[in-house]
Amino acid sequence: MKFLIVGGGTSGWFAAAYFAKNLPGIDITLIEDASLGPIGVGESTQPAISNFLYECGFLPKEWMEPTNATFKHGVELVGWNDKPYFVDNDTPQNYIATPNMFADSYFQGKPHSEFLDWYPAYYLAKRNISPKLAEMDATFNIGYEGYGAVHFDALGIVDTIRNTLKDKINYVDTRVTDIKAIDGNITKIIDINGNEYTADLYFDCTGFKGLLYDAIGAEFISYQDWLPNDSAVAINKPYTNPKEECFPYTRATAMNAGWRWTIPLFHRSGNGYVYSSKYLSKEEAEKELREALNDFESPANHLKMRCGRRRKMVDGNVVGIGLSTGFIEPLEATGVTFTTNAIRTFASAFWHTPEWRKHVNEAYNEMVDEILGFIFCHYHFSTKDNTQYWKDVKKKDLKSLPENVQKIISYVYPYPQRGVMFYSPYSLFSQVQWWAMINASDGYKHYPTIPLTEEEKKYLEYFVKCKDYQNKMAEECFPNHYEYLKGWYGR
Ligand SMILES: Cc1cc2nc3c(=O)[nH]c(=O)nc-3n(C[C@H](O)[C@H](O)[C@H](O)COP(=O)(O)OP(=O)(O)OC[C@H]3O[C@@H](n4cnc5c(N)ncnc54)[C@H](O)[C@@H]3O)c2cc1C
Repeated sequence: MKFLIVGGGTSGWFAAAYFAKNLPGIDITLIEDASLGPIGVGESTQPAISNFLYECGFLPKEWMEPTNATFKHGVELVGWNDKPYFVDNDTPQNYIATPNMFADSYFQGKPHSEFLDWYPAYYLAKRNISPKLAEMDATFNIGYEGYGAVHFDALGIVDTIRNTLKDKINYVDTRVTDIKAIDGNITKIIDINGNEYTADLYFDCTGFKGLLYDAIGAEFISYQDWLPNDSAVAINKPYTNPKEECFPYTRATAMNAGWRWTIPLFHRSGNGYVYSSKYLSKEEAEKELREALNDFESPANHLKMRCGRRRKMVDGNVVGIGLSTGFIEPLEATGVTFTTNAIRTFASAFWHTPEWRKHVNEAYNEMVDEILGFIFCHYHFSTKDNTQYWKDVKKKDLKSLPENVQKIISYVYPYPQRGVMFYSPYSLFSQVQWWAMINASDGYKHYPTIPLTEEEKKYLEYFVKCKDYQNKMAEECFPNHYEYLKGWYGR
């Protein structure tokens, strides 16, 4: 069986690494035009990344250090409402908290700040606390919350995997210039030197270009109507005080026509303004970002984005991974997770059923559509309305969303439902994360809290107290995030 991967960004190399380790006997070729290079903005990830790389054969030390990785407790959203809110990493503690939060409405109806003061991940994040004890090797999957989500340098992770893998697969550095297809299936790929390549399955990892999909006429469904941001400008900034600035969470701050990310890596912070070009020119966006950062010297990198997904992730003999298949703007950092989930879903389905295409496509669509709803609601429930962008972005009604997305939202709004099975195997965000977002904008204030039984009340009081105690202990025992990494990286 021959797999041909075109593209050497995170999606191409992640796919090659996963297949090489987990699908023995496959003949893998990866073609990339290294002169074009991958998208390289400092990336924030979801917890799945660490296990995924472990399944590819990489221990945290092997990829965290060369990518200047830092830990991530979650995302703090600032300026979207009167008060900030926090979408954490959905750690095991949250799985425990989730049913209780919703069963008993312990925090519902109370000021959001009371919830934030207690919320364990936020407690650690805002105090710059590392999730690992000072003497502990972060390779061990224990600590305050195990290891999971990180920030890393996207170019660094590509280099790390390429260096390890390129002699173990067929690697070709060349430009694809022509793709032949008949009846929705690729028949061959031709490079700039006239060399021809054929395979049983072709993987489109060419980023937003989607060269292989386009060659077979694959359909793209745009999410532009719901998510108007189509551009970004990124600036990396050196630290002046890394102990303070290298914080263990991503920050997403609302701006005039979008929002900006702050992603602290070990050696510098990554910053970027995600905006809609309908409301702001490139120059205006860069100016607004520079002023916010007080940085007028570091180079700026302008990028275009396309939000939406292919109707089918697997179409004919093309399997898409990464930006070619789908992307929902960077808010909540789901891009790399789309990649890792798509690879895993493909690899697990591949051998088991003649219906594998259908299974993979449904799984992928379910995951992306759920994220569409989650990200859309960040804007919908925001109370910011001081510019035309914010006024317009909120005009779009929840009822305009696809039906399956509306169904997911109905579990949490207009009030959190009790006793519903929220999780599908492909969900990325849990009820508590939705709840945190909606509650921060007082989205529940018109709805009565769900009454608690005495037993529930007691249980929850203990639960909250235990976590309070754990928070205080963590503050005492766990080191500063930057100091921990400095020690572990030996720098
Ligand atoms: C502004 C922005 C911010 C983002 N932030 C985050 C984040 O915080 N967290 C997150 O998880 N994700 C984020 N993402 C998404 C993330 O960057 C991508 O999911 C990830 O980089 C995967 O990219 P890719 O490999 O699909 O495409 P790319 O990185 O674009 O790689 C495409 C590859 O195709 C190759 N190629 C193209 N044309 C040819 C050709 N003709 N011949 C041969 N090779 C070719 C290129 O050489 C390159 O190697 C962000 C994306 C954007 C745009």
